[in-house]
Amino acid sequence: MPLLDTDRDLTRHSYYAATAKRSLDFAALQGGAGSCDVAIVGAGLAGLSAAIELRERGFDVVLLEARQVGWGASGRNGGQAIHGLACDQATIEAQLGLAEAKRVFGMSIEALDLIRQRCAQFQIDCDWRDGYLGVATSERKARALRADADMLASRYDYPLCWIDAPELSQWIASPRYVAGIHDARSGHLHPLKYCLGLARAAAGLGVRLHEKSGVTRIDSGRNAVTLHTDAGARLQARQLLLAGNVYLHEFAPALAPKLAARIMPVGTYIACSKAMPAARADALIPCGAAVCDTNFVLDYFRTTVDHRLLYGGRVSYSTATPANLAASMAKRMAATFPQMQGVEIEYAWGGFVDISMNRAPDFGRLPALGDQVYYLQGFSGHGLALTGMAGKLVAEAMAGDASRFDTFARLKHHPFPGGRALRTPALVLGMAYHRLRDLF
Ligand SMILES: Cc1cc2nc3c(=O)[nH]c(=O)nc-3n(C[C@H](O)[C@H](O)[C@H](O)COP(=O)(O)OP(=O)(O)OC[C@H]3O[C@@H](n4cnc5c(N)ncnc54)[C@H](O)[C@@H]3O)c2cc1C
Repeated sequence: MPLLDTDRDLTRHSYYAATAKRSLDFAALQGGAGSCDVAIVGAGLAGLSAAIELRERGFDVVLLEARQVGWGASGRNGGQAIHGLACDQATIEAQLGLAEAKRVFGMSIEALDLIRQRCAQFQIDCDWRDGYLGVATSERKARALRADADMLASRYDYPLCWIDAPELSQWIASPRYVAGIHDARSGHLHPLKYCLGLARAAAGLGVRLHEKSGVTRIDSGRNAVTLHTDAGARLQARQLLLAGNVYLHEFAPALAPKLAARIMPVGTYIACSKAMPAARADALIPCGAAVCDTNFVLDYFRTTVDHRLLYGGRVSYSTATPANLAASMAKRMAATFPQMQGVEIEYAWGGFVDISMNRAPDFGRLPALGDQVYYLQGFSGHGLALTGMAGKLVAEAMAGDASRFDTFARLKHHPFPGGRALRTPALVLGMAYHRLRDLF
């Protein structure tokens, strides 16, 4: 089934959509005479961040969104802002060496600070809470978690708090885990409230934002590109950022197929319980942190400010939505917290993450469309914080200092084997192996 059809299904019952107020509407782009310094495709966290940073540097910016602000992964995710990248640091070290890998890790931490800074600067109330808890489901995984924590402390000067089994119950009331780490600098938030706050900030700074403006074609010229929208409008821009995630090539199928082949849309799902008495919700995760286990197909969860358990997990490599989504997520919730057995699920939804082959972010330029065309993709399910930083790096590059952007752009990426048609079966096979390993 086409991705956009499946996706329509997944947006229906989101806790975020039900609890965030859309106070601003942005009219569709119209006409054909418009121009700007920079056009941005996609009003998710990456595009919004770039828009703010570019405007603050004096650029005239137009941001085009096919649907609504935060409609993609940015308005639907688990809300967990965590240090590091989706891949481990060894992947980055192997390609760039230790010094550059340290620079990359440092930027992942700067990304966390950037969220706090923007919330303060633009007065965005998005339910931010400090703290991330990583938990291991077996002794083997606890050893791996410990080794990773030791490596971050010794090589990256980023110490984490280690939690052995006897103390773990003070942090989380689940029998599933044997050890954990805690990071106070990471945290969690309501992602749609954050997106809408960034959009309000961008508009306040003078960014011209247009919703319902899907870009279907881009023509490259000598010093500018021309964007065409599904409503027949046109816009000329001297520089361009593509921040459309897995949806970019759904709306504009002929655009940069080589880029599309380097990411794979993978479905991931979230359920949210009914509100509980505050004490009951707080007792689940007494430290109040966002929690992830260390499995390859991981469970990620947290409590909300209105005392619900918001629980993410499962994956779909075929883009088909799992049957009985709410019931299957309730089962997963109860496996982690037996005390949640029978608690009603009020919302269940999902979205797609842009997985790259090595799980490293894929940032760069598209010379085929012109020297001044940039793209951001491949956040691989770890983009809540990093998208903000990525937008900032693009702004730095467009303003003349590409040194930090180019650190990421030097990372090599490969297409999924088999192209669009065969990459799904190949990935499903690979995943079967990882699922087996998750059991031990
Ligand atoms: C269910 C789920 C849970 C997740 N949980 C976490 C988490 O807890 N922590 C974490 O770090 N990450 C998480 N992620 C990943 C994170 O949400 C993403 O990495 C991040 O939001 C990507 O932001 P983006 O701006 O690149 O893309 P998106 O937010 O997807 O935005 C892209 C936008 O571009 C628009 N667009 C695309 N093509 C066009 C076009 N041609 N014309 C106009 N507009 C276009 C789309 O409509 C969309 O709004 C999760 C993702 C999902 C789906």
